[in-house]
Amino acid sequence: MAKQQERKVTMRQVFQTIIWPRRKHLFLGLFLIIISRLSGLVLPGASKYLVDDVIPSNDLVLLKWLILAVVAAIVVQSVTSYSLTQILSVEAQHLIAKLRAQVQKHIIQLPIRFFDNAKTGELVSRIMTDVEGVRNLVGTGFAQMIGGVLTAVISLVLLISISPLMTLYVLVPVAIFGLVSLKAFGKIRPIFRERGKINAQVTGRLTETLGGIRVIKGFNAEAQEIKTFEEGVELLFQNVKSSLTATSFVTSAGTLLLGLASAGIMGIGGWMIMKGEMTFGDFLAFTLYLGFMIAPIVQMSNIGSQLTEAFAGLDRTEEIMNTPLESDDRKRTVQLNEIRGDMEFREVSFAYESDKEVVKGISFQAPAGSVTALVGTSGSGKTTIAGLAATFLNPDSGQITLDGKDLQEVTLQSFRSHLGVVLQDDFLFEGTIRENILFPRPDATEEEVQKAVKAAHVQEFSDRFEEGLDTLIGERGVKLSGGQRQRIAIARAILADPRILILDEATSNLDTESETLIQASLKELMKGRTTFVIAHRLSTIRQADQILVIEQGKIVERGKHEELIALQGRYYQLYTYQARI
Ligand code: ADP
Ligand code: MG
Repeated sequence: MAKQQERKVTMRQVFQTIIWPRRKHLFLGLFLIIISRLSGLVLPGASKYLVDDVIPSNDLVLLKWLILAVVAAIVVQSVTSYSLTQILSVEAQHLIAKLRAQVQKHIIQLPIRFFDNAKTGELVSRIMTDVEGVRNLVGTGFAQMIGGVLTAVISLVLLISISPLMTLYVLVPVAIFGLVSLKAFGKIRPIFRERGKINAQVTGRLTETLGGIRVIKGFNAEAQEIKTFEEGVELLFQNVKSSLTATSFVTSAGTLLLGLASAGIMGIGGWMIMKGEMTFGDFLAFTLYLGFMIAPIVQMSNIGSQLTEAFAGLDRTEEIMNTPLESDDRKRTVQLNEIRGDMEFREVSFAYESDKEVVKGISFQAPAGSVTALVGTSGSGKTTIAGLAATFLNPDSGQITLDGKDLQEVTLQSFRSHLGVVLQDDFLFEGTIRENILFPRPDATEEEVQKAVKAAHVQEFSDRFEEGLDTLIGERGVKLSGGQRQRIAIARAILADPRILILDEATSNLDTESETLIQASLKELMKGRTTFVIAHRLSTIRQADQILVIEQGKIVERGKHEELIALQGRYYQLYTYQARI
């Protein structure tokens, strides 16, 4: 019930924000459809007038006027249909652009947990492909449907006025056809929806394949990927085939039934003319109007499949739009503008899947400006704890506070304006070194950029490039070494100047030179910030104000390096057995 309500609100919102502001264009389009179709209807009437009145009267002047009127109607029809197609196609593209923007905006604001369970390519497909079908709602489909209904209804009235008997005879096959089509389209809609899903899966896999090309080539797994993709497109082909079968069935059924109707009309009409119950002109007009009534009904099979595709796309779009945003949480009312940066975990527990707690009632304080290092074996819960501190995840129980305020009540926008992250895969974007550093603060001055570049020791290598900071680094920074990527990520964080900093240190084997440089730049970065660092480097751990040793989601030891060594416990074990932690 609640879901139903949400669904309605969303679609109404879409309508309000996108279509309503463009109502003038749409009404103009609608007006043009009416004019265009009405002028099209002049021809049969004129034919009847020609056969029944003008020819028998032998009046050449009348004939001239009649032809002029027909030409005028045809010109009006062509001009209006040109402009309405123009207007509606543009409106359709406008709708797609806006809708894509809305879907992207929504997706990007979904919680991290959502992305853990989604595939990148699938989401791309939701934004780009699913929305595409909606074009037909406003474009040709819309115009044909409104115009078709209008023409069919007016033609029907005119047909009845000419001969109720013949009209009745025609209506029976038309009604049967209508029912057949409706049933068929009911069947096709799930096929279209399935197509959206397959499309998304295939795109998803393709994105991964191309992203992981080094691993694929490295393990000689091209054949496998080629096969998977072939299977995907085959599925897509089968899906399209089944919908094509259904639509062509509808079209052929239409042609058959309506052809039979026409044959019958010839019989009945011929008979009525012979008996003097109908004029030639009326018969001519009847057959022409019949064509006008039937054409849109047959067209419905096309329009029907277009609209069905549009609705199937909308279903999938709606599904995404109904996924709650991470900021939707009503509890978030506290705005933290200026902060000291005292953080505290109080009995915090968290599980990704119910009953499998990954963080188990941990408590600790991270005073403003201090460095807290999380150490422990892989899978012990370090990244999860960092994710909780970053509000990427929310505690199932317990509290995380910033300056005494529960983070679950603080608006994400205000919290994250104080947050900076440097992650293990030090994510860089396609573009130049400068663009990547400027990313959190595009309006920073050149002086600030230079300061960050120096502090993070980016200059040491950027100076060696001909283009300096304007060097293109390739997708995800593939044209740089691991150490260089990391220093750019650090420069970026320095420029962002956050009060709270989360570092997931890379374990990668850096050469000694960049190791020292990274060390130096990290030190610069952490200065004066409340820092959580998932530490692998001994030098970082030594500098930490407190070390938390994590074991299966619990803090098993805490203290400074020397204290923990002296304790000769778990930390001492990790330290001595692994040499590098
Ligand atoms: P660490 O960073 O110490 O290596 P993590 O915090 O990444 O450990 O993981 C802790 C546990 O949580 C692991 O058992 C891991 O399998 C599980 N886990 C991590 N991320 C997810 C996720 N998105 N969904 C489900 N389980 C997860
Ligand atoms: Mg981790």
